[in-house]
Amino acid sequence: MIAPYAVRLFCLCLASFFVVNLSAGLIVSAASRGAMRVAGTMRARVAARFLFGIRILPFALGIGAVLGLCVPSYLWFEPQATPERVGVGCLALVVLGAMSWFVAMGRVSRALVVASRCRRIWKETGHEDHLPRESSRAVVVEKDAPLLALAGILRPRLIVSRGVLCALSADQLDVAVHHENAHRVSRDNLKRLFLLMVPDSIPFVRGNGALEEAWAKFAEWAADDEAVQGDSNRAVSLASALLRVARMGAGPRLSFLHTSLVGEDRDLAARVERLLEFETVNGRPASQTRSLRLGAGFAMAALVATLLAGPAILSSVHGLLELFLH
Ligand SMILES: [Zn+2]
Repeated sequence: MIAPYAVRLFCLCLASFFVVNLSAGLIVSAASRGAMRVAGTMRARVAARFLFGIRILPFALGIGAVLGLCVPSYLWFEPQATPERVGVGCLALVVLGAMSWFVAMGRVSRALVVASRCRRIWKETGHEDHLPRESSRAVVVEKDAPLLALAGILRPRLIVSRGVLCALSADQLDVAVHHENAHRVSRDNLKRLFLLMVPDSIPFVRGNGALEEAWAKFAEWAADDEAVQGDSNRAVSLASALLRVARMGAGPRLSFLHTSLVGEDRDLAARVERLLEFETVNGRPASQTRSLRLGAGFAMAALVATLLAGPAILSSVHGLLELFLH
């Protein structure tokens, strides 16, 4: 297909993203078990960040390859006048790439629709109020349903039902609200949006689900740790709050973009057990801090080397892109 300059660039971007996302996605899938084992040796907050980084790495590399290599090398080395054809292989990659983006956008749209339906219901049946011991306001929904959740992506708000307010003691409510605030601080709802947005390596094949579940588990544990603040009494209060809310029955259907106090039933037993065992987790070991700094140093060195070797790299990349064109 003979295509104009901009259309060829668009096709090359989609195809390049698909190839990089697929390659990196397969490597991440192969390495995910090992990554989850390593995460198990870390503090919950560090483990959650580590697993989230690994999960979105193929997407980040794909976007980086397109914006940092594909686009500049094409604009630099591709003459505007040549009427080149987009090869059949490239077209196939474009179709696959577009499909994986459409599937991801579909996931995001469905989650947004459910979130918007919840927001409408909460607006009709709730009102803003101050909770005891809390400076920030929450939306109190006048229902008995077990509902204590954080809703919203950029400015998340606490949603709590009258049933939960009546069921929990002041201490239990305090630590449960701190748990949700910890999700707010670590922007977990925004991370959930990213997880939905990341296109699958192979369209319609949702790989790396185990990695996402592990991230969700450690994100819950991290919020538990921050709510408990190293106090065994608060740990017991949070465990009893979790059980009390869970015993209230099934909660309303929430969006994937919401974090709920008792979200995943299968993780509840492990969370309660962990809180009751309550091992005081001391600060991150120095070696781990050093390894994080070392990783950041390597990344910076790689970036500087890439910038210095820019023209040579872009020329090579352009040679590769020419494989897609005739
Ligand atoms: Zn939570």
